[in-house]
Amino acid sequence: MIKTHKEAQAHRYGSWGGNPKGESYVEGKCAEEISTRDQFAVYYQCTRNNGHGIEGLYCKQHDPEAVKARKAATEKKWRKDLADEIAISEHFNLCVTALEGIADPLEFVTAAKALAVLFSTDNDTSEISTVAAKLRKAWRGE
Ligand SMILES: [Zn+2]
Repeated sequence: MIKTHKEAQAHRYGSWGGNPKGESYVEGKCAEEISTRDQFAVYYQCTRNNGHGIEGLYCKQHDPEAVKARKAATEKKWRKDLADEIAISEHFNLCVTALEGIADPLEFVTAAKALAVLFSTDNDTSEISTVAAKLRKAWRGE
């Protein structure tokens, strides 16, 4: 990451075997070096106007603080999704346990169908809890 204006001025963008000197820093533009997202990945200086982040070297998108915040938000969402998934699978296990306790074949089939529909189309955990509770009651013969 480029941290000073001096560093940016000294930086060569997109230097490689075929262009060892690369391109020089363009004043007023974001200091981030980005690449084309293809197999020939060509590196170049971001073309957006600068004015954000360290010494105002970056564009809004590449401002290191903004990059960090986006990364944190993505990670937070990922953790939440994982927690939701675990909660759902725990409810699912509860439901399966409850299903195993239903002796009456017709009741079992009805409950199993309801569960199949629930887990295939709806991930609302409160609804799953309700069904799980009903199944557990049936299981205990309440
Ligand atoms: Zn940029």
